[in-house]
Amino acid sequence: MAIRKNDEIRLTITTLTSLGSGLGRYEDMAVFVENTAVGDEIIAHIIKVKKNYAVGKIKKIVKASKDRTESDCEVSQRCGGCAYRHISYEAELREKKQSVTDAMQRIGGIDREAEAILHIAEPSHYRNKAQVPVSLSEDGKLCAGFYSKRTHRVTDCDDCKLQMKEFSPIIKAVKSFIAENPVTVYDEKTGKGLVRHIYLRRGAKTGEIMVCLVINGDDLPKKERLIKALTGTDENIKSIVLNINKEDTNVVLGKRCITIYGSDYIEDELLSLRFRISPLSFYQVNPEGTEILYSKARAYAALVPGETLLDLYCGAGTIGLTMAEDAGQVIGVEIIPEAIENAKQNAEINGIKNARFICDDASGAAKTLYDEGIRPNVVILDPPRKGCSEDVLRTVADMGPDRIVYVSCDSATLARDCRIFDSLGYEVKEYTAVDMFPRTTHCECVAKLIRKEN
Ligand code: SAH
Repeated sequence: MAIRKNDEIRLTITTLTSLGSGLGRYEDMAVFVENTAVGDEIIAHIIKVKKNYAVGKIKKIVKASKDRTESDCEVSQRCGGCAYRHISYEAELREKKQSVTDAMQRIGGIDREAEAILHIAEPSHYRNKAQVPVSLSEDGKLCAGFYSKRTHRVTDCDDCKLQMKEFSPIIKAVKSFIAENPVTVYDEKTGKGLVRHIYLRRGAKTGEIMVCLVINGDDLPKKERLIKALTGTDENIKSIVLNINKEDTNVVLGKRCITIYGSDYIEDELLSLRFRISPLSFYQVNPEGTEILYSKARAYAALVPGETLLDLYCGAGTIGLTMAEDAGQVIGVEIIPEAIENAKQNAEINGIKNARFICDDASGAAKTLYDEGIRPNVVILDPPRKGCSEDVLRTVADMGPDRIVYVSCDSATLARDCRIFDSLGYEVKEYTAVDMFPRTTHCECVAKLIRKEN
C-alpha cells in the first residue's frame, strides 16, 4: 500500500545521504529521515510524499543504532551547521569515506575505493573562521548566532562547538557594543539597518585574530568604543576591519574593506611557512586538517627537483608555496586580487624565489600559459564547489603534465571532472577523503591523476 502523509511506518535506516539524512526503504519507496543513524529501527511519521520518495521525522526509536551518541550541543537540532552530532565520529568517518567512494565510482566511473580517510585528532573547535549573522528577533531581541535550519531566522548562540573557543567572548563584546550604542542591525526584509555579520578569523599557530564587521553602510558610529571593547577583550586582536556590503544578497562579504584598527591582515603558519591573510582571501578553515590535506597533496604531486608546478585556484598561494622547495618553479593562478597580493607577499616573507603569481580566471590564465609554451610537470587544481569548467580541464590536459593533483570540497564535481579527464587521457591513480569539516556533511577530497600510457 502506498505511503501517505501522516502515516506512521516502521523503518530501518540503511544508509546516510550526502546531505546527512538517513535513508530507509519502505516497499518501493525511499524514505529520508533526518537525525537518524545506520542501523536505527524507528517509527517514522511521514511529513511529505513525492513520486519516488518520502520524508519522515522520528516518531520513536524502537532500536537505536550502535553508532548513536548523545549530542553535546544544545542547539544542534535547530542549527543547520552540524549534521552528525548524534553519531560517533568513527561512524561519521566511515560514512564520509563511503560517500566519497560512491561518488567517484558512480559519477566518476572509477573502479577503486578511497584510501583510508584522514582526519584531525579532536573533531571540535577546529574552525578558524566564523561568519555570525546579526539580527533582531520579532520581539526585538538582539541575536547573533546562526540561521536556524532552512530559514533566515537568526538563533542566538555564542558557544558553537565547531568554532575556536576564542570567538565566543568576541561575539559577546560586539553584541554589547551594538546594544549600548546607537548602532542598528540589518533587516533582510527591508534592507535597512547597519550591522549584518560578525566575521572572525584566527591564526591557529600565531593566535592572531581579525574581527570584521560586515555593514550595510560606509561607516560605523562610535567605532572607537568598539575598538576599545575588543582590544580589552582579547589582546591577540591584531586587525579590526569594516567590510562594506550594501547589496541585497546572501553573499556575506562585500568587495570593500576599511581597516579601523591594527593591520589589514593577520598571519598564520602552515607546515613551517608563514602566511598573510586579508579578509577577502580564501584560507582553509581547519588548520590542522589543512596540514594533513596539503601533505597528502604534496605526496601525490611527488615533485622532483627542477620540475614546474602550476597551482590553479591558488588563493593566498598556500599549496604551491608549501611545495616550492620540491620544485624548480611554481606558478599560481587566482581570480581574487587581494589573494594574489597575499600570495606574492607570502612568497617574499618566506624567502621563496621560485614562485610567481597571476591574477586571472583559471581558464584564461591556463590558455595564456599554454601559448607561452609553459608545460608544467604537475598541475594542482583546487576549485570552488562547482568544480572546473571543461575548458580548464582541456587546457590542463593539452599542457600534458605527468601528474594532476585535484583537491576538492565536493566529491560529486570532482568525480564528474575526473570522468572528463579520463576522456582526455588522465586516469585516477589514488584518492583520499580528508575530513576537513567534522560534524558537518562536508568532506574534502584529493585525487592523484596520471597521464595514461600512449
Ligand atoms: N588553493 C587555495 C584556495 C582554494 S579555494 C587554498 O588551499 O587555500 C578556491 C579558490 O579559487 C578561491 O581562492 C577562489 O577565489 C578561487 N577562484 C574561484 N573561481 C576562480 C576562477 N574562475 N579562476 C581562478 N580562481 C578562482
